[in-house]
Amino acid sequence: MGVHERTLTTFPLMGTSATLCTLGEGDTDIAPAVVRRLRNLEARLTVNGPVEARSRSQVEAVNLASGVSAVAVDAEVYSLLRTSVRASREHRGSFNALIGPVVKAWGIGFADARVPSAAEIEGQLALTDPDEVELEDESRTVALHRVGMRLDLGAIAKGYAADVAAAMLRQAGLPGGLIDLGGNVVAVGTAEGGRPWRVGIQSPFAGRGAIIGHLSVQDTSVVTSGIYERVLEAGGRRFHHMIDPLTGYPFETDLASVTVVAASSLDADLWATVAQRGGLAGGFAAVSAEPGIEAVFVTLDRRVVATAGCRGQLTLTDRAFSLG
Ligand code: AMP
Ligand code: MG
Repeated sequence: MGVHERTLTTFPLMGTSATLCTLGEGDTDIAPAVVRRLRNLEARLTVNGPVEARSRSQVEAVNLASGVSAVAVDAEVYSLLRTSVRASREHRGSFNALIGPVVKAWGIGFADARVPSAAEIEGQLALTDPDEVELEDESRTVALHRVGMRLDLGAIAKGYAADVAAAMLRQAGLPGGLIDLGGNVVAVGTAEGGRPWRVGIQSPFAGRGAIIGHLSVQDTSVVTSGIYERVLEAGGRRFHHMIDPLTGYPFETDLASVTVVAASSLDADLWATVAQRGGLAGGFAAVSAEPGIEAVFVTLDRRVVATAGCRGQLTLTDRAFSLG
C-alpha cells in the first residue's frame, strides 16, 4: 500500500477484513455509505455461515430451491449470477460457480472442515454442471435443475464488491483511493503527488502483511489467490480452498499464489482462480493469451514469474524469491 493515504475505515466483510483508504482531499463521508452498500451486497450473496446469516441471501434462496423451482432475484444479483454461470461454461476445468456442493463437503476455512470420502466427492461433483442452470432474463429467475446443486460466488464476490466500492469513490470525486478486501485490491486514481500506488504481494509463506514485493499501479485492480489463504490440515497433508472442478480435490499445483492485474476487479478475481489450472505453465499460458489480464505467479520453490504486460510494474524486495 502507499504510504501517504489515510485509512477511512476497516470492517469485516465476506470472511475477511476490508480497508478503505483515500488521499487527504475531498469528501471523506463516503466511508459509511460504502460499508453499508457492501454489507448489504454480502447479505444478498452469502451462502456461508449460520442459517440467520443466509436467510436474507438471494443466492442461498436459489440453492434451497434446487431441483424444485426457479427463484426470482434482484437485477444486481441476477447480473452477477449470469456473469458467473457464463464464466463457468467458458472456463470449464478451472472456474465453476456451481462448485458449491463440493466446497460445502470440504468446508475448508470453516469449523466443520474435513476430508470427504472419494465416493462423497464423486457424488457432489455430479451436481456441479453449469449447463444444468437456467437463467431467464425477462423474469430474472434462476433455476438449478437438480436437488442439491449450489451456487457459490466465493471466487468472485469480493472482486465485484471491490468494483462497487471503487465506483462509489470515483463518483464522490475523490482524487485517489485504495480498497483492500482481504487481498482483493482496487487502486483508484493515483497516490500522493500523482505517483502510482504500490500494492504489496503477500508472501505465501509468512504471516499476513509480510510482502515479497509490490506492483506499481494506478486505476486498476490487483487480486491474489493463494494456497495459504484457507487451509485444512489433516492426516499430515495440507488442503487449500481452491477446488479443481474436474477432480473435486484442491488443485494439484506448483504455484503458491497468483496475483492478477486487470481493469475490473471482478475479472481479476475470476482470473486469479482460472489461472490456478495447470500450475505455472498452464496458468501463464492462459493469462498471456487473454487481452487485458496480467499476472504474477509465485511458485512453491519461490520463483516469481510475471507476464509481459506487468513485468515493468513489479519490484521484488524479498531476496528469498528469485525472478524467473
Ligand atoms: P478466491 O478467494 O477468490 O481464491 O476464491 C476461493 C473461493 O471460491 C472458495 O472459498 C470457494 O468458495 C470458491 N471456489 C473454490 N474453488 C472454486 C472454483 N474452482 N471455481 C469457482 N469457485 C471456487
Ligand atoms: Mg478469485
